[in-house]
Amino acid sequence: PEYQEAKDARRADVNYDDIGGLGTTIDQLREMVELPLRYPELFQRLGVDPPKGVLLHGPPGTGKTRLARAVANESDASFFLINGPEIMGSAYGESEKKLREVFEQAAKAAPSIVFIDEIDSIAPKRGQVTGEAEKRLVAQLLTLMDGLESRQNTVVIAATNRPEAIDEALRRPGRFDREIVIGVPDERGRREILGIHTRGMPLGDKVDLDSLARQTYGFVGADLSALTREAAIEAVRRIMPRLNLEDRTVPPEVLDTLSVTREDFQLAIKRVQPSAMREVMVQA
Ligand code: ATP
Repeated sequence: PEYQEAKDARRADVNYDDIGGLGTTIDQLREMVELPLRYPELFQRLGVDPPKGVLLHGPPGTGKTRLARAVANESDASFFLINGPEIMGSAYGESEKKLREVFEQAAKAAPSIVFIDEIDSIAPKRGQVTGEAEKRLVAQLLTLMDGLESRQNTVVIAATNRPEAIDEALRRPGRFDREIVIGVPDERGRREILGIHTRGMPLGDKVDLDSLARQTYGFVGADLSALTREAAIEAVRRIMPRLNLEDRTVPPEVLDTLSVTREDFQLAIKRVQPSAMREVMVQA
């Protein structure tokens, strides 16, 4: 389907082991989403409806999108992504149409996961919105959620960092009636995330990921990913003087010795600011 391909074609598949520090959350999602998508007959046999909607809330960059992708991938389900602000920006009437189309395509490609990022921008509290277009979009989303039959094998996962800002009607039973809080990672979580993002990286002997995890209080997954990238760039800068810019390729003896060192990480740490520090302070 066009919508999915446009969003997905360039992305590699993500698995549960590409997500750090969210073990319990993964277990919860597997039970809520993967199990019913994989074995709908279990739930039919027991006469219970599996959840149709799950709301993930937590600060930006904590892995919500990656998590939804991983659940889809590991459940062998098709994945459809709706970006809240993007769909809101469409021309009058177009937003609802796009939303309907995604749900239609998801039904056809089932089992499916529809992921709505930044749902608060699509479905703010109706009392607080003035625009007619916004009200219609919330109403459309409610209609689509209500229209999802459990047999249809589609689960909607939505993400927000402002759960208090979304329309209460969305959180009623049969809609987004499950909520999972995704917090800022603790030291152990940061260690896991650093491990994931340095997996394919040659590291110098003195690189100590445990100590890096201790030093990165307040960093979310996206910050830690930025940190490892920045450290790698430092490593490249460091070997630049050994390159002859007329050469078309890097000489093997330079390439072989290239690794990311402790010093590269220390320089990088000064550059990357934890984006979630505000949230951390609020929670503390
Ligand atoms: P937003 O709310 O801003 O969309 P998000 O919570 O959906 O953020 P992602 O888009 O999933 O966050 O994460 C951004 C990037 O940060 C990921 O592609 C990944 O590289 C890294 N990342 C975030 N969280 C984790 C994590 N728990 N484990 C590993 N990598 C992570």
